[in-house]
Amino acid sequence: MAKKHEGLAVGIDLGTTYSCVAVWLDEHNRVEIIHNDQGNRTTPSFVAFTDDQRLIGDAAKNQAASNPTNTVFDAKRLIGRKFFDSVVQNDKKLWPFKVIGVNDKPMIIVKYKGEEKRYCAEEISSMILTKMREVAEKYLMSPVKNAVVTVPAYFNDYQRKATIDAGAIAGLNIIRIINEPTAAALAYGLDKRTNCAEERNIFIFDLGGGTFDVSLLTIKDKVFHVKATAGNTHLGGEDFDSRMVDHFAQEFNKKNKVDITGNSRALRRLRTACERAKRTLSFASCTTIELDSLFNGIDFISSITRAKFDAINMDLFIECLETVESCHNDAKMDKSSIHDVVLVGGSSRIPKVQQMLKEFFNEKELCESINPDVAVAYGAAVQAALLCDGFKNAPNLVFQDVTPLSLGLAIKGDLMTVVIPKNTSVPVKKTQTYKTTEDNQDSSVIIVYEGERARASDNNLLGSFNLWLPAAPRGLPLEVCFDINENGILVVSASEKSTGNRTEIPITNEKERLSSQQIKEMTREAENYRIEDEKFLRKANVMNGLDHCIYKLKKALKRKDVKLNLSSKENDKINNAITKATNLLDSDKQSEIDVLENHLKELDSIFQQIIGRYV
Ligand code: ADP
Ligand code: MG
Repeated sequence: MAKKHEGLAVGIDLGTTYSCVAVWLDEHNRVEIIHNDQGNRTTPSFVAFTDDQRLIGDAAKNQAASNPTNTVFDAKRLIGRKFFDSVVQNDKKLWPFKVIGVNDKPMIIVKYKGEEKRYCAEEISSMILTKMREVAEKYLMSPVKNAVVTVPAYFNDYQRKATIDAGAIAGLNIIRIINEPTAAALAYGLDKRTNCAEERNIFIFDLGGGTFDVSLLTIKDKVFHVKATAGNTHLGGEDFDSRMVDHFAQEFNKKNKVDITGNSRALRRLRTACERAKRTLSFASCTTIELDSLFNGIDFISSITRAKFDAINMDLFIECLETVESCHNDAKMDKSSIHDVVLVGGSSRIPKVQQMLKEFFNEKELCESINPDVAVAYGAAVQAALLCDGFKNAPNLVFQDVTPLSLGLAIKGDLMTVVIPKNTSVPVKKTQTYKTTEDNQDSSVIIVYEGERARASDNNLLGSFNLWLPAAPRGLPLEVCFDINENGILVVSASEKSTGNRTEIPITNEKERLSSQQIKEMTREAENYRIEDEKFLRKANVMNGLDHCIYKLKKALKRKDVKLNLSSKENDKINNAITKATNLLDSDKQSEIDVLENHLKELDSIFQQIIGRYV
């Protein structure tokens, strides 16, 4: 495959709580996870505004307690969403910073250098991306222009586009958006283990800072397919931190008879210490925390064992495993058919979580040789190397995503006509020609759907637009093109050759694209309605056939040679047949399919017998 981009590119995992940047090192034939200026491989996705400066990453997170209303995090929960989206409305209540709706777009309000400023989620994300770019530039000692950025598998078009916009604001050319689970599978080179003929099932367990996502991927012939996703949008490392904070706050109360839960600064300091302790407990069985003058001048020194940490979080760990189980049930896949289980996300480093997951998979070894908190950035760096000509020794592999549902148009009779069938590898571009169905139609409405049902309106409406047409008899050819780019974004265009009229729309409006859960439901529904759909299809086809036959006969009757030679008996026969067909079509609800089909046969044979002579 020819590489498209000049120079180098980095891979960036733009996480909800932490971000990470990595690059393929050609001379060493491996991926390097780049440390930030604090020496950390992951950087908090935090941006803070003060009276005299803007802080990003660790510096922003470290001062969050003293400047809560101007310290912004969780921008990924807002990106590409509308203000009245229930997710935004619910999350808004939990944030210390203010979010308002401007033209239905969520805007974050902060005070910066003494003035009120408004930022959208793309701008906040762009600041984090800028930081990641600078981290990479310092390490590589050269400017970085291109990046591959990862997003959750369930991100819709809006969210993907907004992520690309964030990159553009950061001065980065995002050469590809890839799904986080796909990136993790790439990091392990799991596609390389696939023998072309055999499908490989991969389970990705991603427990991060504030979100938990599981995905079932299949890889076949180098094509990655996200089969099922499940998760919890508010479960992750921060919840484990909170449990530890509660535990120590109670202990402080018991020892000193003072309640610190009303003091946000003390709580924030305790939380920071707890997060550190939690990380230590992933490789030590016991750790201590020490906080000078935590509250009212009282120092706090205490310790916690891994067993205690596990005990106070056990219900949350069990919840994770229940999600794993339900994802399997939804995908109707037995756990024994999983070839690889991949750990992703910082919190999947917790030994108890790993042990429970391993037990669930009947003691199967988990893929954990790459640190889970950097696996996604690792995979993004591999993908970046594959796309840029600046890397000579990039691993030799190709991968593609596929369309989860069929994409098509509504044609006469509310029939769904598929342009791109489901499971087609992207990028893909397909053009089909359609004909107008009325004489002198001044426009044609192009209505785009996704789904597997025969009746177009039973599918998910993606968008519609009008193509203006010149006066012409029916049958005027129109070209409709469906173009899905590498990032899974669909653009539909329609054109009419004689006038050169062309209209196109990116599919973003109407309803949002579907989540994988909805996709699964729709696919199942289509299966349930198969018989009904077949009946609808048969009827719609015969009605379109009748309509076409009436048109052909009427047109023939106007021809001079036909008019002159037709006997009056033949003329009556044709006119009667046309009237009968028109009546049948007008009262289509009552007409049985058999009646319609019989009349279509009759009409066809009349055409052949009588008109055929003159053609
Ligand atoms: P994101 O959810 O933004 O993708 P990560 O996958 O990097 O972020 O996960 C961040 C979470 O992982 C944080 O809550 C962090 O405390 C936690 N974490 C990082 N390292 C460890 C570790 N060694 N043990 C336990 N938790 C960890
Ligand atoms: Mg993550």
